[in-house]
Amino acid sequence: MRGQLAILAASVALFSSADAFAYSYSTCGGNPIKWSGNNVTMRASPNSFPTGYWRNALQRAVDIHYRNPSKFFFTLGTDDTTWSSGNGVNEIFGTTDASVHGGAPAAALTRRTCYWLFGWHYGINESDIYFNYSSPWRWTGDELKTSLWTYNMNGAGLRQLQATAIHELGHSSGLLHESRWYNMMGTDFQHLWANGSTAYGYLGADAGQGTAFLYGWWSSARDFSVAHWAYSGVSGEYSTHRRTRVYSTAGAELPVANVANERGHFVRPGQRVQVEFTYENQGSVTHTAPMRWVISTNDVISTADTTIGTGSITLTPGAHWTARTTVTLPNWLTPGKNYWIGVIADPLNATADNYRQNNATYIPVRAF
Ligand SMILES: [Zn+2]
Repeated sequence: MRGQLAILAASVALFSSADAFAYSYSTCGGNPIKWSGNNVTMRASPNSFPTGYWRNALQRAVDIHYRNPSKFFFTLGTDDTTWSSGNGVNEIFGTTDASVHGGAPAAALTRRTCYWLFGWHYGINESDIYFNYSSPWRWTGDELKTSLWTYNMNGAGLRQLQATAIHELGHSSGLLHESRWYNMMGTDFQHLWANGSTAYGYLGADAGQGTAFLYGWWSSARDFSVAHWAYSGVSGEYSTHRRTRVYSTAGAELPVANVANERGHFVRPGQRVQVEFTYENQGSVTHTAPMRWVISTNDVISTADTTIGTGSITLTPGAHWTARTTVTLPNWLTPGKNYWIGVIADPLNATADNYRQNNATYIPVRAF
């Protein structure tokens, strides 16, 4: 689980990142820099994001960001065909201009105010997001796992525009990079939720909590979720993430298997193992979720699958927890066949949860 909240020392620095809390943001005279209102319109270039596939992918990112547990949300509109920083319009566009993208795959260019004149004056005035289109094959608007590089052990696939867009929207709302835990403001293409054939990026508990710190909690936000990604370390300003794993009862990671081109583990029929998942409370109140662990013959985890464990998990708002649970696999697993160990939060729909699609996920395994 996250570390305990530190006590904020009485230090003041312009534009420094405040790290007393889990997430990071810019400050001015000790005040977090944010938008003055709770709704900001981003305008997409009709050239870079024409109606259809690409505009839909961007709209989906805005819609997923909308699920955050704060009062803040973005609206997506349409821009004209030109872009500039300082024109007072928040623009989203693709560019092949190296003087703009500087080799970065994407970024948010945010203009902030911070000055003292008989009191601190501060805020976000404008935020533009660009995607590097110099290598158009870098991006996919898909949610299909087969299209995403993070779900293909053979290295095929592209980077999901949607996940990166949610990360950049996080910047536009006022969040900075965060390297200390599993979170969307780290490596976004390793911050995905998946069940069945699809995977999508999401803001997550930590960045959601950061957004709520800046703009206030939305009291009706309820979203307990599970994920098969976890924190693995630091790369510059970013957290890096890895797939959650299956371990022996002694805590040793089981041998890695290629399961339908996805990273999984070799297991024995009847083996007692520790299965690891990440649990998140993306809502605004403390949530206790009944939990069920299952074994499935495909990657679609549902209540129709065979139960191999039960329990419950309680998380405070914004909490994320990567944890192992000991379960015994059935004796009827057939050597040479693929299975999927699943987890389902609130399988009987007994608790309030506004977004149930993210309540189940899996780890692939291969019996031997
Ligand atoms: Zn970033």
